[in-house]
Parts: sequence; structure tokens; C-alpha cells
Amino acid sequence: MTTSDKLYDQLQQRLEQEHGMLSRELKHEMLLNTLVPSATAIENAELSELIVMAKSSFIPNLFDLAARMERVDAAVCSVKLGMYGLCVDCEEEIALEDLEQDPAQPRCSSCREHSRYHHDS
Ligand SMILES: [Zn+2]
Repeated sequence: MTTSDKLYDQLQQRLEQEHGMLSRELKHEMLLNTLVPSATAIENAELSELIVMAKSSFIPNLFDLAARMERVDAAVCSVKLGMYGLCVDCEEEIALEDLEQDPAQPRCSSCREHSRYHHDS
């Protein structure tokens, strides 16, 4: 195993931990805000449905949680597809230091610059 393989491994572990933590927190907050009728309903729902519900609730805290959940979930999916660490826009490798700052980073630095310029986000 090379050094960068080990780093990717660590990043993916961090992602999975954050994924578990976020999904518990998201479900907890949704129950607190009674966005769902019961704990059973929330356990039976798809994560993607919960994300959509939380985002459309316009409760700031919940919106942020759901947005982060969505980002982390997409990164976890990219691990499963063997696409982790590749930019979603140009498919170039994302710099390791960017991934260390945020293991769920979906874009390389040049595409991030590009989208900031175009969408001001
Ligand atoms: Zn890119």
C-alpha cells in the first residue's frame, strides 16, 4: 500500500464516521422539529428523502445539517463507485490537502474557482 492509498483510506474512514454522525443528528433534529410523525417513520425513510424534507423545512440549523449530509453522502457514494477523490466536474484528481481539509470536497480547486466566479457561492 502506498502512502497516498493510506491517506485515502483515512479520509474515507473520516467520511464514514461523519456520515453516521450526521445521519443520527439529522434524524434527531427532524424528530425534535416534528417534521416526521414518528421515530419508526424516520427509520423507514430513505436518507435522500430526509435530506429533501429537511432542506425544504427552511429551519436554518436543519437546512445546514441536510446540506452537509448531502455532501458527505455523495462522497461516500463516490467511494463505493471507486470515484473518490475525483472532481465531479472535470474528473481530475482533487488535491490531497483539499481532501484533508474536507474529505467530502467534490471539486478540484480550479472548478471551485470557476463555480465561485459564475455562481458567487
Ligand atoms: Zn475539476
